[in-house]
Amino acid sequence: MSLFAATPEWDKAISAIADSSSVLLLAHVTPDADALGSALGLGLALQGMGKKVQVTVGETGFRTPSSLSFLPGSELVCAPEDLDPVDLVISCDVSSAARLGSAKVILEATAVSIAIDHHASFTGFGTIHLVDPSAAATAEIVLELIDRLELPITKEIAGAIYSGLTTDTGSFKYPSTTSHTLRTAARLVDTGIDSANLSRLLFDDEPLAALVMMGDAVSRATLIPEAAIGQGLVYTCISIVQRPGLDELAVERVIEALRKTSEAEVAAVFKQADDGHWKVSLRSKTTIDVGAIANKLGGGGHKYASGYSSTGDLDETVARLIESLG
Ligand code: MN
Repeated sequence: MSLFAATPEWDKAISAIADSSSVLLLAHVTPDADALGSALGLGLALQGMGKKVQVTVGETGFRTPSSLSFLPGSELVCAPEDLDPVDLVISCDVSSAARLGSAKVILEATAVSIAIDHHASFTGFGTIHLVDPSAAATAEIVLELIDRLELPITKEIAGAIYSGLTTDTGSFKYPSTTSHTLRTAARLVDTGIDSANLSRLLFDDEPLAALVMMGDAVSRATLIPEAAIGQGLVYTCISIVQRPGLDELAVERVIEALRKTSEAEVAAVFKQADDGHWKVSLRSKTTIDVGAIANKLGGGGHKYASGYSSTGDLDETVARLIESLG
């Protein structure tokens, strides 16, 4: 029995792959290890089938960020403006066409495309959907696809997929972690990957400047106990000048520190992007669906982890979130 998408969708996906000779895999803009690890793991598997494989992210001049450069298969990555023509596009962990960035036009110009995703907010682009919000990570669905294609799971493929799985489950501690997730992880570890080293590189490896920025951001946190229907909101902000020499990616992990706050059900980090606009990361623990709140504010995500962008200034953006949380 399939754990994920309906059987006709799996059959359509497998036929589309069989009929293709050149495949483009897309991860979402500002990719995390689930998006890029899923694309690279599937890319390596399809390359093993004899396909010509390219992997990209819809950002001009895209190169694998240094924080993810250890992912196996990085040699498949090229910038979107350097791509050769393809006959099949597969998006990984992309919940809406907007998250494809400049690669949206490539997907829309290709007759057949497969969207592999696990966001409840998936908006339905592309022609074939392997989408299951109950999956802990897109990487879990990718592994099932590779199994259904009857392809071997090499150590490299396992490393890429494991990276996605452990990232999206927060080291197998978020509520999305099921016994199936843990059995999947065990199977990947059995291929011989160095899971401890991957975990260190994913969770416990940051430049000192990033830790100093995080310490500053946490020291400026505000707790509003009455927010979120009396369950508490904790938030902080990081402007461009508060992350000197650090890029947008460096601020992604601040929310992982702030979400530990005992007194708050919801944690938020307001991050100023290079263009001056504010991006908001949300996390909740047990009762509040921050995915639904992000949806209302023009973004998306999961029940306990989500995000959106704001066009307002910081004060307006903070006030709007507090109001939305009730
Ligand atoms: Mn994901």
